[in-house]
Amino acid sequence: MPIVDGATPLAEQVEAAISAGADLVELRVDLIDDVAAVEAFLQTHDSGRIIVTLRSADEGGAWDGEDAEKIAILERLGLLLPGYIDCELALWERSANLRQKIGLVCDTEVDSASGSASRSDASDILRRKNQLILSVHDFNGMSALTARSDALLAAPGIAKIAVTPRDAGDSFQLLEWLRESSTRKRIIAIGMGDTGVCTRVLARKFGGWLSFAALEDGKSSAPGQVTITDLRDRFRWDEINADTRVFGVIGWPVAHSKSPQLHNAAMRAAGIEGVYLPLPIAPTYEAFAAFMNRVLATPTLGFDGFSVTIPHKEHASRWLAERQFSQTALCAACGAVNTLIRDGEEWRGENTDALGAIAALCAAQNEADARILKGKSVLILGAGGAARALAAGMKDAGADVIVCNRTAAKAAALANELGVRHQPWDQRGVIETDVVINCTSVGMTPDVDASPLPIAGLRRGMIVLDTVYTPEETKLLRDAKAAGCVAISGVEMFLRQAAAQFRLWHGRDVGVDALRAALV
Ligand code: NAP
Repeated sequence: MPIVDGATPLAEQVEAAISAGADLVELRVDLIDDVAAVEAFLQTHDSGRIIVTLRSADEGGAWDGEDAEKIAILERLGLLLPGYIDCELALWERSANLRQKIGLVCDTEVDSASGSASRSDASDILRRKNQLILSVHDFNGMSALTARSDALLAAPGIAKIAVTPRDAGDSFQLLEWLRESSTRKRIIAIGMGDTGVCTRVLARKFGGWLSFAALEDGKSSAPGQVTITDLRDRFRWDEINADTRVFGVIGWPVAHSKSPQLHNAAMRAAGIEGVYLPLPIAPTYEAFAAFMNRVLATPTLGFDGFSVTIPHKEHASRWLAERQFSQTALCAACGAVNTLIRDGEEWRGENTDALGAIAALCAAQNEADARILKGKSVLILGAGGAARALAAGMKDAGADVIVCNRTAAKAAALANELGVRHQPWDQRGVIETDVVINCTSVGMTPDVDASPLPIAGLRRGMIVLDTVYTPEETKLLRDAKAAGCVAISGVEMFLRQAAAQFRLWHGRDVGVDALRAALV
């Protein structure tokens, strides 16, 4: 865990980090900006579990002094035997002075150990010398992985590489490299930013020596660093091993998604050895297909299931069709897949959005099955991914479906594909229906005062489901309640579609109330 704060006493921060479960604590001397305070702390603290780092500005840190001064500081702090000294590979290569000085305080053998760091590493240190970490940082992309990995593997000490993946596909390229290389020496491989969260969580699965986590939000030393609470409690870091099954939500963006919160809590409660991750994949079909083809070609990545969200639901359906894998008739009809399930060496597609919506409608009516929709008129607002799935699902359940969309041509195309009716967008407030489902994004945070339906379109007794789930109560739902309608939040649909995904991946049920508790 990195410590970056110079204002709070270091002893207090190190104690807090160790109490929170950190195996090692990194003192970012460049950010603490008080070498004397670090020196004073190391004179009285003797755990061998401290990494001393004086990160240079050209590698993302705050140190912009001379090499000679930096080397002198590292030597001085190294003599106090913190345990580990981090130094950039570039400086190591260019400065014979550094190699000589660091050699006095660090073991500079080429490392041949492997595996993950633990508290026992500290007691392994002979306490006459520190261990060396040589690091490479690339804040612009992945090129350091190709350009510098050989030099890093050949150099002494523990290897650290931090790169900036464009998306989760790049992150898994880094993790594959980690798996191959971690048999040769101890390696820290970090993907920075939201696109690299999976590298931080899965480091242990792929043989990484350690991952970095912040003590709390706002105290991270690099973009995308998760907190230690999230790493240990949400993602169950301590239980992750080579056999851990991996699930995740594919989308762009996905950092805001609540699905990791739900599925990790549900797996933990059910005792399932798995982890569920946010997986940002660039918003093109090519990026989606490249990621899935990598997953397919590399079963050792350990993926067993994906949720798929905007903008990849249509891409998932197309990819399955191109690979000649199966998808349900509903997926084929609406052209959208929101759930991918590994089936041996193949993948298959399902869509739980309609299931979730129908289950939420049934629950609000205290009815057990979708027969309540038979013969009911259902107005679907929107013609995007959610609207396509819900219109197909409602039609299957026997409802009389009418589609209204701002872009009329999309409403017409969807209605024609499914064999349902469509109406112009400006008619949405005058059409008399039993059920209205908002499948547009109107009303979603931050646009919370907008509603897709004029108040005049709401009539007492009408059932109104808003698929938008942030906020939980939208303007449409407030208007619907005021007009005496039955108002159903998108959260109810979201929980039930997640429960359906859980059943598809794990073959067992999870209670909606347990999922609701995880969401809170
Ligand atoms: P999408 O494919 O991007 O479709 C967006 C739809 O919203 C389109 O029909 C679009 O109309 C319409 N729209 C956007 N801005 C509009 C505006 N200002 N006025 C009128 N119409 C507007 O998105 P999606 O995947 O279908 O998702 C739609 C909503 O469903 C999102 O809020 C999402 O969070 C929600 N959702 C919820 C769940 C759940 O479990 N609760 C599951 C899936 C989706 P045009 O065609 O004219 O652009």
